[in-house]
Amino acid sequence: MKPLLTTLACATALALLSSTSYAATPHQTTGSKVAAKNVIFMIGDGMGPAYLSAYRYYKDDASTKQVEPTIFDQLWVGVATTYPDDHTVVTDSAAAATALSTHTKSYNGAIAVDHAHKPLTTMLEIAKAKGMATGIVATAQINHATPAAFMAHNKTRKAYNEIADDYVDNKVNGKFVADLMFGGGISYFERKDRNLAAEFKKAGYQYANTWQDFQNIQRLPAMALLAPVGFPSALDTDVKQPLAQMTDKALKLLGSQPQGFAVMIEGSQIDWCGHANDIACAMAEMQDFDNAIRVAKAFVDAHPDTILVITADHETGGLSLGSNGVYAWKRDVIKGVKQTAAKLAKTLVQTDATQLTAVWQQQTSLTLTADEWQQLSSKIASIKPVFTAKDWSKEQDVLEAEAELLEPLAKDIKHLVDLYSQTGWTSGAHTAIDVPVLAYGAGASKFAGFQDNTQIAEKLLSVIEARK
Ligand code: MG
Ligand code: ZN
Repeated sequence: MKPLLTTLACATALALLSSTSYAATPHQTTGSKVAAKNVIFMIGDGMGPAYLSAYRYYKDDASTKQVEPTIFDQLWVGVATTYPDDHTVVTDSAAAATALSTHTKSYNGAIAVDHAHKPLTTMLEIAKAKGMATGIVATAQINHATPAAFMAHNKTRKAYNEIADDYVDNKVNGKFVADLMFGGGISYFERKDRNLAAEFKKAGYQYANTWQDFQNIQRLPAMALLAPVGFPSALDTDVKQPLAQMTDKALKLLGSQPQGFAVMIEGSQIDWCGHANDIACAMAEMQDFDNAIRVAKAFVDAHPDTILVITADHETGGLSLGSNGVYAWKRDVIKGVKQTAAKLAKTLVQTDATQLTAVWQQQTSLTLTADEWQQLSSKIASIKPVFTAKDWSKEQDVLEAEAELLEPLAKDIKHLVDLYSQTGWTSGAHTAIDVPVLAYGAGASKFAGFQDNTQIAEKLLSVIEARK
């Protein structure tokens, strides 16, 4: 096997990793017999097992015969079931996060409440009651279903403002549930009817709402909201490895707390790419999650009294590698795609007709048949005048209105990428397939084998509850 670092494609990743160094704790011991003082719980939303397989082949060094294991493969110890507490078998992210946070199954849409809408105590509430430092990190808005089920209680995940209010109002022994909150969601926390960011600032939180200010966050408690809602897709953003950057700072700040910490870190948008059935988008999110996991693993190596557990809340899209009866999955096709289909659709309708072929080539590296090109260019030509003539200032949600108009073209782009790469999807929603469980550090072996998602929570809660 080659050294792990050779599989890292970009120099920026190396730069980030080399800047990640943690001083070892004085009472350092090795092996899994150490009782965990710190809990790092990472959730790849929608990250079913096929995403790990896809990412392995996508990252494979083509100059060797062997397919190199990824960081996911190195830490993979078990699997988990994800079914919710109803007869659907297929969970949503709210019910799954409730199970992972409270070790109790509930209904789809539930944010840490049971069927009677009674609050279920969350992992971070228990950690806070035990005097630990606590945090959440996400690339979605921080009041999105997954982080919400660690922070708040609501009968529905859709009540975004109420859930955000709970981040201030839901207290444990008079204290806020989280000392650290990094992610998106400015529009929910800097509202006209209630400015929660201002309330946190008044309570002593360092606050950032730009990446520039994020660099200045140096102490706890801290809150950074770095997008109006969710972050831009990892494939489309200029920000290098957003989740890895936030994870690095979170672990530096939380790791310096003498009382230990519990943090939930979410690769939120693997799921969003899955819903869109956009494989290039998904691989870019996996890359960011990979880098965040490396940061977390480096922390565990320096602080062996830490348990790192990584899982998914469910699978999204019914992703499959190989399709239409062909014995092949062509990852090089995916590597050639430089934008999400949603972004590329917009790029194409804004491109001058004389430049279309060049831009298409540049952004996808795909050479289409004459028929395929004819169909694609007529689709572009049919949307272009509508897109150009539209008065976008009249739209309440410009991004959503744009996406709706461009969706037929985005769909055609994804169809072509899937066709040429032999990527298959069975759904635009979630599936009931079991998800991977990865673990590293103190007590990692407890997560080996087959388990239910509530048992992952049970094992992590037993670590937190064992504290004096
Ligand atoms: Mg989520
Ligand atoms: Zn989803």
